Amino acid sequence: MKSLNINSSDQVALRNCEPIFWGNKAYLDQSLPISTASTSELYEAADRLIRFAPVLSCLFPELELSNGLIESPLLKAPFLNEKVNPIGGVLYIKADHILPVAGSIKARGGIHEVLCFAEKLALDEGLLTSVSDDYSVFLSPEARDLFSQYTIAVGSTGNLGLSIGIAGSALGFKTVVHMSSDAKEWKKARLRKRGVKVVEHKADYGVAVEAGRSEADADEYSYFVDDERSSHLFMGYAVAALRLKEQLEHQGILVDESHPLFVYLPAGVGGAPGGITFGLKTVFGDSVHCFFAEPVQAPCMLLGMAGEAKTEPTPVYEYGLTIDTDADGLAVGTASQWVCDVTRHLLSGVFTATDDSLYRQLYLLKTLEDIEVEPSAAIGCLGPLMLNTPAGKAYLQAQQLSVPLSKSTHIAWLTGGSFVPQEEYQTYFDKAVSRFSS
Ligand SMILES: *Cc1c(COP(=O)(O)O)cnc(C)c1O
Repeated sequence: MKSLNINSSDQVALRNCEPIFWGNKAYLDQSLPISTASTSELYEAADRLIRFAPVLSCLFPELELSNGLIESPLLKAPFLNEKVNPIGGVLYIKADHILPVAGSIKARGGIHEVLCFAEKLALDEGLLTSVSDDYSVFLSPEARDLFSQYTIAVGSTGNLGLSIGIAGSALGFKTVVHMSSDAKEWKKARLRKRGVKVVEHKADYGVAVEAGRSEADADEYSYFVDDERSSHLFMGYAVAALRLKEQLEHQGILVDESHPLFVYLPAGVGGAPGGITFGLKTVFGDSVHCFFAEPVQAPCMLLGMAGEAKTEPTPVYEYGLTIDTDADGLAVGTASQWVCDVTRHLLSGVFTATDDSLYRQLYLLKTLEDIEVEPSAAIGCLGPLMLNTPAGKAYLQAQQLSVPLSKSTHIAWLTGGSFVPQEEYQTYFDKAVSRFSS
């Protein structure tokens, strides 16, 4: 097995499916052979989303109020804060579980990537002469004719498929989603209803991606959205940081050296939390501390980040794990090496959580704040508690952060849930109640 930067008691805990907090030794290490993502690409992505806003607002009436921007509110959560934040400071919720169009954080990256492809085709084929032209051409019959010749394909545990499928088919593309075995039936049904072709695989997420990639490679009219190494997805996610900065300012929440910001991001293959981390570090530098959160059965980003730079991430299967978790959005066995390499020096740490503790957070969110999320999304609420463990406190100490924590801000990033059918949510909630109501 490859050498990993994980101490021996944590290695044992990983195998035993016990939750851990892992502080990243490579954080801020300038000597690493890092690949840096480009900040100009981040601002280009933000501009692209603004150019397309009028188009999106026509395609998706739910975006009218936001003038075509796909954004979620930053919510106070006073009752949850009381219950789950022993650190001090104030806990907020970033409400991507109600992100319009796709109902999950995947709306950010997925839709951005579809727009990149559509924009490129329109420029190549002369529908647009420059990006300052009128983008209503994307709603024209000519554009639909052009796009209908192309297929956009993706491999997904579910939510990315929803995002790509919905955005791609709205613009007139053919869309194919390769689903892993843990993808939920309702997600497949919802896609099929929109005319998206769903291909089911009796294997994990990595296999679904591989199948999608090779099928698309064989067809020149097919474009594959590669969740394991796409900078378009990554930058679409990263734009969230620019928007969050505005929201924080708007609510009068300071972020600086004496007002640190802690952000807890659910992680699957790494693109969404990695992109947001990149964006946040670009905007807030050392004042922000980003943590990934993973199920004990699928700590793939932890293994990836704990590995050496520029080497393949270790699959969780090598630790005897099976990615058996109700957090289907995070059920990924091997991290994206690309994301690990661009965020290794930016990430503060990773913590893991049992499904039981996810259900507890799902229960607390509903009963204290009347917020309904899918199990994957609830994991971020454990951030302050995990930062309060001995390993978490060691991180704070090392960053000399023990003093101003009463002035800190914590954000649990809720990543999905509003598309979950009510009876499915009820099953989650009943499961949570049966465990915690006593
Ligand atoms: C996909 C997903 C994530 C994590 O995103 P990755 O890019 O896979 O790391 C988190 N939460 C939900 C609900 C998701 O669907």
